[in-house]
Amino acid sequence: MVSMPGSGEPGSGRPDRGIPDTADAVVVGGGTVGAWCAYFLRESGLDRVVLVEKDRLGQGASSRAAGVIRTQGGTPWAVRLGEWSRMFYLSQADTLGIDSGFTPHGYVLPCFSAADVSAAHDRMAMQNSLGLDVRWLEPDEVDRMSPAMAPGKTLGATYCAQDGYLHPLRNVAAYAHALAISGVRVLERTSFTGLDLTSGVVSGVRTSAGPIAAPLVVLTGGPDLAAVGRLAGVTIPAGAVRHQVAVTEPHPDLAPSRLPMVFDLSVGLYWRPEDGGMLFGMSNPDEPPGEARSVDVEYLERIRERLHELVPVTAGLGLRRTWAATIDYTPDHLPIIGPAMISGQIINGATVASAGGAGMMWGPGVARATADVALTGSSAVVDTADLGLDRFDDQGHSRLATDPIALPFPESTPQTRAFPEHATNT
Ligand SMILES: Cc1cc2nc3c(=O)[nH]c(=O)nc-3n(C[C@H](O)[C@H](O)[C@H](O)COP(=O)(O)OP(=O)(O)OC[C@H]3O[C@@H](n4cnc5c(N)ncnc54)[C@H](O)[C@@H]3O)c2cc1C
Repeated sequence: MVSMPGSGEPGSGRPDRGIPDTADAVVVGGGTVGAWCAYFLRESGLDRVVLVEKDRLGQGASSRAAGVIRTQGGTPWAVRLGEWSRMFYLSQADTLGIDSGFTPHGYVLPCFSAADVSAAHDRMAMQNSLGLDVRWLEPDEVDRMSPAMAPGKTLGATYCAQDGYLHPLRNVAAYAHALAISGVRVLERTSFTGLDLTSGVVSGVRTSAGPIAAPLVVLTGGPDLAAVGRLAGVTIPAGAVRHQVAVTEPHPDLAPSRLPMVFDLSVGLYWRPEDGGMLFGMSNPDEPPGEARSVDVEYLERIRERLHELVPVTAGLGLRRTWAATIDYTPDHLPIIGPAMISGQIINGATVASAGGAGMMWGPGVARATADVALTGSSAVVDTADLGLDRFDDQGHSRLATDPIALPFPESTPQTRAFPEHATNT
């Protein structure tokens, strides 16, 4: 076995507990999807659940998110996953003794054209039919509810009071705690390197610290999911792209009571209160896929002009923080929950999970549904029949309609060939 930092090397300060030879399930990836999934697998009764994380828990997208939780989804899948996740966040304090910091705050989705208004009413009808408390705001109601916004800008908006935001680092703390108290074995700084198959069925994983035999494997990875898939010989059309967030300096006009969350879908700009100021996030629709390495100052300034137009007080405010990070996406902005496939064949025992760039708002729901699918083939959280990899063609195009309430990410992923040599089939 390879000696890993943090697992007994001199100076690591930790006893060498080795890695287990066998497990009931192995989950790859210690982000919000993998970690909550491992916790749910354990809660479902599996004794030996192992989570393999190449770095440290939360070192992917999950610690860098803006924390926006929106149940006002554009599809029934999105509504159900958002609502399940919201209820989970609300239940955490009682069940875990810690929570992810979810704060209900109210979310306004403004309309700027007649087409926006018509689409919003259709969406609201779908959301209401699923029991979601979303209502229409007339333009003057939008102005009253959001006094920091320039008046008379909108043609109305949909509004959901139960939407809110969480603190991403607190969510990482919450799942780290949940993993510890539930007895999931967490192997940090341990990379998944390949899937072992026996007669086409999962028999275990290979890791940088040695193999683990297991009949169930869950593959997550957020922005790295396509790469995790390649290690397993599975083609996963999941992408990664730069996403930027900034926080303004505080201002009394941006007090939380005057600042509902807002998503300007027309340009992919959203905001919420943060530390007495405003946190705003943006995705550049023309951004090429790839890893985020720096802040795109030019695009940030362009989006700030739109922000100044909509929330004039921000024009005079400095920024106290800006960051760029790599966000995950899927070509149809929908989650992936379903069996792994190699050359069109389902791999029994291996399940793939992606929150499609909405891991704060959908993460626990995706994780719970993935655990259910891995154990039983279906889930009461959401109907996963259409959410598997088989919805994508060889070029990664989905046969499902794109979720209309999503950031303007790239619509396609750089499809790369699978590397079947990494999956051994004995
Ligand atoms: C700037 C930004 C803002 C965002 N804002 C929001 C928001 O407001 N609301 C929202 O809903 N979503 C938001 N998101 C998206 C959300 O953060 C992600 O969808 C979510 O974190 C994905 O979770 P995950 O567990 O799939 O991936 P991650 O959190 O990236 O976790 C994947 C893990 O897999 C590990 N890994 C990769 N390869 C291997 C390997 N070979 N072996 C072992 N481990 C491996 C990685 O180290 C990583 O820790 C935002 C993202 C970004 C970047």
